[in-house]
Amino acid sequence: MPYLLDQLPADWNLGENVPNYRMEQVATWIFERRVTTFDEMTNLPAAMRAQLAERYELLPLKLAKQQGSDDTTRKFLWQLNKGDFVESVLIPASPDLFGERADRFTLCISTQVGCAYGCKFCASGIAGWKRNLTPGEIVAQIIEAERIAKNRVNNLVFMGMGEPLANYDNLITAIEIINAQSPWGVGIGARHITISTSGLVPQIRQLADEPRQIRLALSLHGATDEVRSQIMPVNKKYPLAELLDACAYYQDKKRKMMTLEYILIEGINDDLTQAEILVKHARRLHAKVNLIPYNKVDGLPWVRPSDSVIDAFAAVLENADIPVTVRREKGHDIDAACGQLRLKELQG
Ligand code: SAH
Ligand code: SF4
Repeated sequence: MPYLLDQLPADWNLGENVPNYRMEQVATWIFERRVTTFDEMTNLPAAMRAQLAERYELLPLKLAKQQGSDDTTRKFLWQLNKGDFVESVLIPASPDLFGERADRFTLCISTQVGCAYGCKFCASGIAGWKRNLTPGEIVAQIIEAERIAKNRVNNLVFMGMGEPLANYDNLITAIEIINAQSPWGVGIGARHITISTSGLVPQIRQLADEPRQIRLALSLHGATDEVRSQIMPVNKKYPLAELLDACAYYQDKKRKMMTLEYILIEGINDDLTQAEILVKHARRLHAKVNLIPYNKVDGLPWVRPSDSVIDAFAAVLENADIPVTVRREKGHDIDAACGQLRLKELQG
């Protein structure tokens, strides 16, 4: 059975001769009231509720497990109705910046079960790709995280499991639903949405041609083909010259500062000559750089460099006036378990 959330409200099939205001009622129940069954839509005739339940499933996933608490990073493990599990991570803005209790939230969501791109350092790539999430499976991660956390999300980042741009059509449909104003959608504006990609050149160009002002983050992780190809097989298909041209095209179209993500892995990409070349890429793209000390993944040999190496790498960028952030916290089993994430600078 299809999911209601796989389609924009305009495409819903609510039955024969159903007046338009019914559509608004259904949308309001889903996107504002956050009900989890058709039965709870009490201002609809019982026959219509029954018919909807025959045609559609309402929610494509349910919470299987939760880690963390109200004021900390909180991880949701979702069990998909069609089988498999995916994760989302809810990150409150720093209470230092926003008072005692954080009231701004970034949600990191998944777009695929597994990932086909096999980056050597990444937990999501280890088991390979299983399937694309449907638009509803993407959207429901937000709706359910917001309902369970009793908070609205201010920032959305596609940095969970999977390569978003490899699931392009479903991603765009999901973003249309996410963008639409309440009650017709989740109501998160494109400027508050960031897509992180390992560097799929044709799709970066395609996204640049979309009308929406979605933000782009590129997982660079190496400033030369030699270094990048060692850890990211996708670089052999789309080498740096082509990739950076596509990003320049994106920047030119959107005129928004993009982010270059750079994981620091000891002995692999933490050489200062990489930092110097990274300066050139960032300058060309008017990008900021987010340095991510590597999160240990069980079963993989990589480790993060020492603090002094991280500081020296960051200093090269700072001295060249490139906006740079370093994710400083230690440990964080939660982040590591999600296989990725950084995000601090994407909040707010
Ligand atoms: N597939 C997309 C989005 C998901 S990964 C992409 O690769 O961009 C989100 C970010 O987490 C990427 O920058 C990715 O390289 C990073 N990441 C993956 N594994 C990590 C780890 N063990 N430690 C730190 N960051 C990691
Ligand atoms: Fe896939 Fe991104 Fe992980 Fe690479 S870093 S394997 S593209 S999820």
